[in-house]
Amino acid sequence: MGAQQVRDGFAALYGTEPDGVWAAPGRVNLIGEHTDYNDGFVMPFALPHTAIAAVSRREDGVLRLHSADIEGGVAELRVADLAPESDKSWTAYPAGVVWALREAGHPVTGADIHLASTVPAGAGLSSSAALEVVVALALNDLYELGLRGWQLARLCQRAENVYVGAPVGIMDQTASACCEAGHALFLDTRDLSQRQIPFDLAAEGMRLLVVDTQVKHSHSEGEYGKRRAGCEKGAALLGVDALRDVAYDDLDAALARLGDEEEVRRLVRHIVTENHRVERVVSLLSSGDTRAIGPVLVEGHTSLRDDFRISCPELDLVVDTAMASGALGARMTGGGFGGSAIVLLEEADVEPVTKAVEKAFATAGFTAPRVFEAVPAAGARRLV
Ligand code: ADP
Ligand code: MG
Repeated sequence: MGAQQVRDGFAALYGTEPDGVWAAPGRVNLIGEHTDYNDGFVMPFALPHTAIAAVSRREDGVLRLHSADIEGGVAELRVADLAPESDKSWTAYPAGVVWALREAGHPVTGADIHLASTVPAGAGLSSSAALEVVVALALNDLYELGLRGWQLARLCQRAENVYVGAPVGIMDQTASACCEAGHALFLDTRDLSQRQIPFDLAAEGMRLLVVDTQVKHSHSEGEYGKRRAGCEKGAALLGVDALRDVAYDDLDAALARLGDEEEVRRLVRHIVTENHRVERVVSLLSSGDTRAIGPVLVEGHTSLRDDFRISCPELDLVVDTAMASGALGARMTGGGFGGSAIVLLEEADVEPVTKAVEKAFATAGFTAPRVFEAVPAAGARRLV
């Protein structure tokens, strides 16, 4: 699927050529999990998988939406009627972006949109952010709004939080909007300051696999809310704005202050050590010591499994099997309770580790995982 195909799809659907074609990628998070709603650090990179949208401006208040990947025809809405949480279908993501732009005072008067995506939906790889960001970037260009990547990310997050009604952090949208090829994005989610960190594994004889377990537990949203509330409680008990404000060196003292709040103590320990892990990975990558990030990734997984308690048997099996088969590092990535894991390994180990994971899944009676190599790719951009 490429720009030409999406352009042709638009022409077949709406009977005219689009004004342009844009792309926005999905992402994987290298390290920094569940830190983004604690004002902490994250380190995602963009995938080669993208949402591609062909878009034209309209001046008559009409918004037409179509996805090549969804059964059903063109959805036709009026921009003036868009209202939060009124739409439970996929169209809430692009419509939410139009709503958020208009709410922020940008005069978006309609659009015709046809899109298609190679980001697998619901695999923890942020197909939703790719969808939002590609639409935001297209409208930013067509309406000459002059918004920067991080500003588009904020508006897309607002679309997802308020219009769709999903309490997500700022990482996914920022990654999709701001990542650069060959780099991971070191992002401070408090002020959205960013640093592009060179992350070219192939040049050093390594690879990174994404293992999509194809598992999605239905309770994941409720559990996400509980973790978020628990982190907020921890910050309140410790008298800080966010857990980001608890320094790694003060962790023991903070845990002591939390007394017998065992659940909160575990959440706090994960967030504080996870922020520290992001900083360690940044420093290792910056000094060219890439292989040394492997054990840090595994520490991160252990913390998510035992302290934050959001792993699942399939994710644990990927990590355990990969590490037992010679991988340098592995961890679950994304929200948890399913989705994907990442595996850092030597190029020569790609095949044996992949086979070992597939075999372990078959033996356990799990659905076969989807395994692919992830090369840090470009962020959102105009194609045509
Ligand atoms: P993730 O972002 O981890 O992939 P989400 O649940 O946040 O999972 O977003 C998945 C939703 O995004 C889908 O249920 C669908 O509504 C929407 N979506 C993703 N890809 C497409 C697509 N190609 N066309 C239409 N809607 C899509
Ligand atoms: Mg999502």
